[in-house]
Amino acid sequence: MAAKKSIKAATKPAGGARRRPRRTAYTKAEIEEIFRRFSIQRPEPKGELAHTNPFTLVVAVALSAQATDVGVNRATAKLFPIADTPEKMLALGEAGVGDHIRTIGLWRNKAKNVIALSQKLIDDFGGEVPQTREELVTLPGVGRKTANVVLSMAFGKKTLAVDTHIFRLANRLKLAPGKTPDAVEQNLLAVIPDHYLYHAHHWLILHGRYVCKARKPDCDACIIADLCKAPEKTSDIPAPLIEIPNAANPLGGDLQAGSGVGAAAAGRANSLSRRLSFKCR
Ligand code: SF4
Repeated sequence: MAAKKSIKAATKPAGGARRRPRRTAYTKAEIEEIFRRFSIQRPEPKGELAHTNPFTLVVAVALSAQATDVGVNRATAKLFPIADTPEKMLALGEAGVGDHIRTIGLWRNKAKNVIALSQKLIDDFGGEVPQTREELVTLPGVGRKTANVVLSMAFGKKTLAVDTHIFRLANRLKLAPGKTPDAVEQNLLAVIPDHYLYHAHHWLILHGRYVCKARKPDCDACIIADLCKAPEKTSDIPAPLIEIPNAANPLGGDLQAGSGVGAAAAGRANSLSRRLSFKCR
């Protein structure tokens, strides 16, 4: 069903800041169309990790390794109101942090890291979260992916944190294939048009989480089914392009912080979108 097309390498035209080889099975026009549709479906996509400031975002992302956003939000719903600065987190101590995050995998190690990163923020960065990747990755428990998420969500920088969903999509769709998250990140940065880069991270995560799922992609609900080159796709007919309203998706704006209802709400929003899609066919 999917058109067989070799993955080609090309270079971005001169003049752009990002001049890496681009590996993709899609033409520029197809990629533009894919992200145009994502932008119509979710004009202002938001992440699903509850946080109230850059510090709590760093902590939440660090806690989310090998854990679900819902699980992290459940734990931080009580932690962040009493510890939303490095100083307050230090005052809680490792045992106090551990008490709040016991439901999260690897919680002992994560509690240790949260205290250590709080201490380092105070010692080396005046209690503020630094705004460069090089500085962020010096924090205990913060790797490149976490740093990219923080740079994008807290400071509005154009980065692309490759999580499990983005890694799967980049390879399954042959959008920006790569054997490692770093390779996929470099490929995506070369392939995604600059004007879509800021939101691309969330568009791809949400598409992977709710439509192009790991076990069984929901191709009938997919707005890019006609463009997709995944060998396993089961439909060529794109779902109608309908905006998922913010009212139905309370992840956006202020409700994101501390709501702890992210994934459930997004699920409802997507299921609403799907129902509307089928109705409009
Ligand atoms: S058509 Fe299917 S495989 Fe392709 S992106 Fe959509 S959900 Fe994924």
